[in-house]
Amino acid sequence: MKKILLSHSRIYSGSLILVNSKYSFSQHAPDVLTSVGRQKDILMERQAAVLLDKLMSEINGWDFIVPVSGYRPFEEQQKIWDDTVKTDGIEFARKYVAYPGHSEHQTGLAIDLGLKQEKIDFICPEFPYHGICQKFRELAADYGFIERYPSEKEAVTGIGHEPWHFRYVGVPHAKIIKQNALTLEEYMDFIKVHTYNANPYIISIGNRRVHISYLNADNISRTILNINENCPYSISGNNSDGFIITEWRQLHENQTDTDNRLRARTDEEYLTDSHKKRRA
Ligand SMILES: [Zn+2]
Repeated sequence: MKKILLSHSRIYSGSLILVNSKYSFSQHAPDVLTSVGRQKDILMERQAAVLLDKLMSEINGWDFIVPVSGYRPFEEQQKIWDDTVKTDGIEFARKYVAYPGHSEHQTGLAIDLGLKQEKIDFICPEFPYHGICQKFRELAADYGFIERYPSEKEAVTGIGHEPWHFRYVGVPHAKIIKQNALTLEEYMDFIKVHTYNANPYIISIGNRRVHISYLNADNISRTILNINENCPYSISGNNSDGFIITEWRQLHENQTDTDNRLRARTDEEYLTDSHKKRRA
């Protein structure tokens, strides 16, 4: 068994943090930002950028799609808010621009994408439900991305329908969210019922049984987790009161883990590695 020490401050970071009008993003910039697409000035958190590029290379996406906006520091979000209020009014800003401190773009986990054309609207880029954009949308969950602000969920997300805004949440989570037509807000509520060590949500992916569970960390300064050796895992805060723990357990207990190295790495393993490197 591997022991993992979780400090309370980590509930505000990770690929599943919920950032919306209720929960602000209290952290600084992500540790590692990487450029995406062919414009070097659009940045995302490294893991999200790697997966986005993989998806795009599968569909030749960067020939037809441009990244319009990725990571934004607080000051930039403030400027976008102020400019939008000035040019389009407060109602429009409330619908399509998150209030400074409450934007997913500040996490480095969100990306606005637009169909490549001469004129691209920075706030509402065109990303239609057909052609190459739809092809991207259909594969997005396989790479850990969700369409974050769907139509008819405006009351839940607090943001108008944004066909162009995608959020990286990680592979099993994006698939579950898509299959059940949830928003990230609804998924966080759904996972909370599945408490750690008691009632995990279990899905099978390839030769793995993926256990997803919630660990409340309210009023607890430190928590120690016991994770099976050789079990790829990831831990993310939910940005309010706890952690979501994802364990990629083996389907059959007596199966060896040697095929692990030969298998394509899951993004979760990648994330685990990057945590190790950061600690080193
Ligand atoms: Zn956006």
